[in-house]
Amino acid sequence: AKKRTDHLEQINYRKQHLGKSLSLSYDQPLKIVRGEMQYLIDEFGQKYLDTVNNVAHVGHEHPKVVEAGQQQMSILNTNTRYLNDEILQFAEELLNTFPAELSVLHFVNSGSEANELAMRMAKAVTGEKDIIALEIGYHGNTQGCIDISSYKFDGKGGKGCPENTHIVPLPDAFRGIYQGENTGVKYAKHVDEAIQKIQSKNRNVAAFIAESIVSCGGQIDLPEGYLKDAYQFVRKAGGVCIADEVQVGFGRVGKAFWGFQLHGVVPDIVTMGKPIGNGHPLAAVVCTRAVADAFANGMEYFNTFGGNPVSCAIGRQVLQVIKEDKLQENALDVGEYLKNQLKELQIVHPIIADVRGEGLFLGIELVDENKKPLPEQTNYLANRMKDFKILMSVDGPQHNVLKIKPPMCFSKENVDYMLEVLSKVLRESFMEF
Ligand code: PMP
Repeated sequence: AKKRTDHLEQINYRKQHLGKSLSLSYDQPLKIVRGEMQYLIDEFGQKYLDTVNNVAHVGHEHPKVVEAGQQQMSILNTNTRYLNDEILQFAEELLNTFPAELSVLHFVNSGSEANELAMRMAKAVTGEKDIIALEIGYHGNTQGCIDISSYKFDGKGGKGCPENTHIVPLPDAFRGIYQGENTGVKYAKHVDEAIQKIQSKNRNVAAFIAESIVSCGGQIDLPEGYLKDAYQFVRKAGGVCIADEVQVGFGRVGKAFWGFQLHGVVPDIVTMGKPIGNGHPLAAVVCTRAVADAFANGMEYFNTFGGNPVSCAIGRQVLQVIKEDKLQENALDVGEYLKNQLKELQIVHPIIADVRGEGLFLGIELVDENKKPLPEQTNYLANRMKDFKILMSVDGPQHNVLKIKPPMCFSKENVDYMLEVLSKVLRESFMEF
């Protein structure tokens, strides 16, 4: 095959021969050829600070994770139908990070597959099909996941809300329908209303699914008490509660290993992905014994690649590195430092209207003096930061939230550099705001 090294050639080939709905980041796309902890390196050897990639959780190409994968790949890779030490050791170490109630694992290959399986489990437990999900939620690319992801079905090319999906308002205490006091309680009431609506059609709720910090929604912290109340309503009706930890899990939120732990709840099912394999395609579903038993109705669950020895060796090494490198502690320490610095910057630049998130999962929302979202300026900022070799991404329903979710080895020096540049870019561009 012809080697296409030129950017334009590559862009054109992609346009012709890769699916048109694939996107590229940045107005001027980058060609990244190597990764090294919190840095990405382009074809010219330019080093970029990565504040975007929460998949390269313990650092891009972390040597220990690479070695674990290489070593296991040279020994054995099969499916889960043989007895194998790696899968059990990984299972045990992963289960140790959860409350005791969550005691049964299924390994899969992506966050979408994890959520797909979680929905099948919820339907098996309850005998119901109706799912309650959050506005602007995203849970994956399969048909089943798209059907509960309003970010997609209400967005470009979407076909609207399916009959068995029930969307509750995004519990956004900055821009949403309730702000200020008791927002958690007020937003959770909508979950109860959704249940009543389902029951009025002589059906019942199968599951409620939510991320513990809503990522595509624009890094929205769930207000205090929201999950507790929502879970109560769902359980009273006989439904199960699913926490989607694909983005926020594995110590990223700093104060806890899992996002749901920030809210004092224990879900019936938790889905994990992205960081679990540090870039290797691995994901998992953990659930209670009751859920697992109801799902095991006689039909075999087989997944060709899910839980293979190479994936498990990698996953286990990721868990070990999180511990050894004290990455949860680092997320808390560096995350708080970064959040405080952003709040300082907010005083000088009121264009930064809200600073939110936990640990190394933060977001800043950019608005004008009338709280009108500033998507163009946000996009400009992300692209301008790239000129200074800092990679940032934009999200939120109004495309006006800069997301910060770097590899967990992000340091205070990285924060200082990022803030120095952010401050410079804001000064040169938006002093009028
Ligand atoms: N859940 C959430 C919250 C996600 O952000 C994503 C991916 N962005 C998924 C599920 C789906 O994961 P994957 O792309 O690995 O299938």
